[in-house]
Amino acid sequence: MNKKTIRYCKRCVMPDTKPDLHLDEEGICNGCRSFENRKNINWEMRDQELKMILEKYRSKDGSNYDCLIPVSGGKDSTFQVIKMLELGMNPLCVTATTDMLSEIGRRNIENIKNLGVDYVEVTTNPVIRKRINKLTLTEIGDISWPEHVAIFTIPVRIAVQMNIPLLIWGENSQNEYGGPAAAAENNVLNRRWLEEFGGMLGFRVNDLVGQAGITRNNLIQFTYPSDDELKRVGVTGLFLGHYIPWDGHNNAMVAQAYGFESWPTIVEGSVVAYENLDNLQMRIHDYFKFLKYGYDRSTDWCCLHIRRNRLSRDEAVNLVRKNGGKMPLKYLGVPIEDVLKKIDMTLGEFTSVCDRFTNKKLFICDANGNLVKDRHGNLCRINDDNIN
Ligand SMILES: [Zn+2]
Repeated sequence: MNKKTIRYCKRCVMPDTKPDLHLDEEGICNGCRSFENRKNINWEMRDQELKMILEKYRSKDGSNYDCLIPVSGGKDSTFQVIKMLELGMNPLCVTATTDMLSEIGRRNIENIKNLGVDYVEVTTNPVIRKRINKLTLTEIGDISWPEHVAIFTIPVRIAVQMNIPLLIWGENSQNEYGGPAAAAENNVLNRRWLEEFGGMLGFRVNDLVGQAGITRNNLIQFTYPSDDELKRVGVTGLFLGHYIPWDGHNNAMVAQAYGFESWPTIVEGSVVAYENLDNLQMRIHDYFKFLKYGYDRSTDWCCLHIRRNRLSRDEAVNLVRKNGGKMPLKYLGVPIEDVLKKIDMTLGEFTSVCDRFTNKKLFICDANGNLVKDRHGNLCRINDDNIN
């Protein structure tokens, strides 16, 4: 089989196999360039801009909430709530329950409430949810598709229902992770952004109808409000990362000081202890990113750290080699068999789904073109760093 080598950004460790990422003539990725541009941003001015927007949307007579904050209970949403409270806002916090909420995730949600906010949690029908998890895992190689849809649709639906026009999102993932320039500069999250970048992978909510016994009325919460409804309330969303120089590590430090609980050790498959603690399926989601594109959360985090001078590129290459891309046998201490049992799948079935979605051009295969795995089922990337 004809293998090409994986090219990596010369500054961080992101491979050019990542969708929407491109390396410029100097071999630097758009994520690094976008971060570099931060020093040209007048953050003072952005701060003023944010305060003006908040003032505009603040409920003048206190009869309604000033804004709505979608919260998962994670470090970033905890930070968003702390920030908005600091700025004197009275938010309604809204959680779309994750696919398979962990105990630590639940504790962190309770912690957000105890920051002193009103709070709503919407849980979609778990029977249907599990079927969607299995269906999207098998059909598009993404177990977390319903979660990525629901975390965007549910808060917007509540905003419409409760007449709260302003939504406070965290970071535009297209910004630091590298995306098309137009999307990275956009500070607004709307339907178009959701469909293009929200992780829907071209699979639409309507595609579920009629599959695995799923009917249209099972999908109410996964449906984005109509344009008429959005217009009536004047719903708009902003990315806080546009106004505040975003740093997940910093957010975690702040969140921890306000009761957010990290995992006692580095999370399996990652290089940090404070992220993705709320969904036991998350590691499976992440592993498929590795199978399809040859990178995962350990790479993401190493890149964020390199750009902020917390890690050298050499150290990052070693860390990714050590922690990244491993078969997700356990997450937050829970064996994969227990996670798969919830969606009625065996480890054998899971492995064959994995193989089906593996991009063989990125991994070592034997003479017959079969993927080479070690005794734990781990694959080996054709190259972990640039080859001169
Ligand atoms: Zn880079």
